[in-house]
Amino acid sequence: MDRGVVAGVGNIYANEALFMAGIHPLRAAGRISLKRYDVLAVEIKRVLQAAIESGGSTLRDFVNSDGKPGYFAFEHKVYGRDGQPCQSCGATLKLVRLGQRATVYCGQCQR
Ligand SMILES: [Zn+2]
Repeated sequence: MDRGVVAGVGNIYANEALFMAGIHPLRAAGRISLKRYDVLAVEIKRVLQAAIESGGSTLRDFVNSDGKPGYFAFEHKVYGRDGQPCQSCGATLKLVRLGQRATVYCGQCQR
């Protein structure tokens, strides 16, 4: 995952979008086809839309009227779920650190 590819997208949502697009987080950005970029772009929009609808209006540090971070209402498929089974295939989700960021992914669904 190249920082530039997901610039402006919070790490949580980047994790989710990569999972939805089926792109492995360690795949070099230059080796992702344009078609897959298109899928990723669509998934980022979809994930952000779902997050906004569930109560988060910013990508991080948002606190809703209940005093809880808005993103807690968003159902994560991979973020924070390392060691747990993938919701799509049942494989154990893995955690990889890229610089300061922790990315959780499924080695079966994301390539
Ligand atoms: Zn999977």
